Amino acid sequence: MDRVRESAPQLASITPYDPKYIPADAFMSANENPHDVSEDIRHEIERAVRKVDLNRYPDPLANELRDMIAEANGLERDWVLVGNGGDELLFDTALAWGGPGRTFLNLPPTFSVYAANARLTNTAMVDVPRKGAPDFAIDEDAVLAAVSDPCNPVDFTIIASPNNPTGLRAPHDFMERLLAATDALVVADEAYFEFSRMTSRPLLEANRNLVLLRTFSKAFSLAGVRLGYIMAHPDVIKEYLKVRQPYSVDAVSQAIGCVVFENRAKFEPGIRAIIDERDRVMEGLKVIPGVRPFPSDSNWVLFQVEDAAHAWEYLYGKGILVRDFSDAPLLEGTLRVTIGTSEQNDAFLANLRDFCMRKRD
Ligand SMILES: *Cc1c(COP(=O)(O)O)cnc(C)c1O
Repeated sequence: MDRVRESAPQLASITPYDPKYIPADAFMSANENPHDVSEDIRHEIERAVRKVDLNRYPDPLANELRDMIAEANGLERDWVLVGNGGDELLFDTALAWGGPGRTFLNLPPTFSVYAANARLTNTAMVDVPRKGAPDFAIDEDAVLAAVSDPCNPVDFTIIASPNNPTGLRAPHDFMERLLAATDALVVADEAYFEFSRMTSRPLLEANRNLVLLRTFSKAFSLAGVRLGYIMAHPDVIKEYLKVRQPYSVDAVSQAIGCVVFENRAKFEPGIRAIIDERDRVMEGLKVIPGVRPFPSDSNWVLFQVEDAAHAWEYLYGKGILVRDFSDAPLLEGTLRVTIGTSEQNDAFLANLRDFCMRKRD
């Protein structure tokens, strides 16, 4: 046949996810940890991986890692589910709580994957945009009104805390009020909670509709490995088990995850250093004329800059890759810089300053 039938109609509006990852000297675009795992942890990983039976299917539920995560959080195993990155668990959320006739409440601007998953699963979407400058705070009253609207019942929502790409975490009392106001599933996406030092974990036992989402990709330097997890009531986990791919978490990733989770305390000084550097970059941005940084509880800073698309090009010309949101809805004129090593942060600040000064001359 020289032709092929059209794909599913909901794909027409979807463009494949593009991280815009291109060669650069300084990768400051994807919110990764600038440091790889330490040599001693790497050696331990090599020993663990050598023991993996590559010819055998992995444990479908990664129970060794699952038990470690459960124990560290004072939970039983059936409150935890490990996934192929947080992204898989976000997709599973849309499969299990979305679908035709179902509604997802989104709080843009936020992680674009949420809306893409809703479209992919034919889930209707209600937007409650965040307030704009100076901090993209959640429009709390509007969110609470939306989840209480009897004409348009919301089936699930995802609250990124801290919110990517804007920066701030969700207030704890807002999470509390939201969970009390609705029986919709509320996913608290805590991919960056190690940098904000704030979690909705204390609300977990009292709220069957709460899911906490975490990842190994950011604070724990494992973006290349693909490991994330959720914590939720066992009744909720059971629904995720119905939609997940049985062997999504491969045996090598499970082995690596166990070593890193066991050694997680060793990442603490690095996390602290990133937080200190974030504050330094924030101060540096504030004194560059024409630049307006937005507050951040995470490992990046979103900022507005005059002529943002050219600023991105200028930085890229100097080997510095940041994320360009200059054309993104609700984020016009902004770029996002991930906190790098102190040398990278210095180079970023110096070059952005040069760009802004040149424009003024
Ligand atoms: C990075 C990220 C995730 C998870 O990423 P994985 O690498 O798939 O674990 C989830 N939510 C947000 C907001 C993120 O930025």
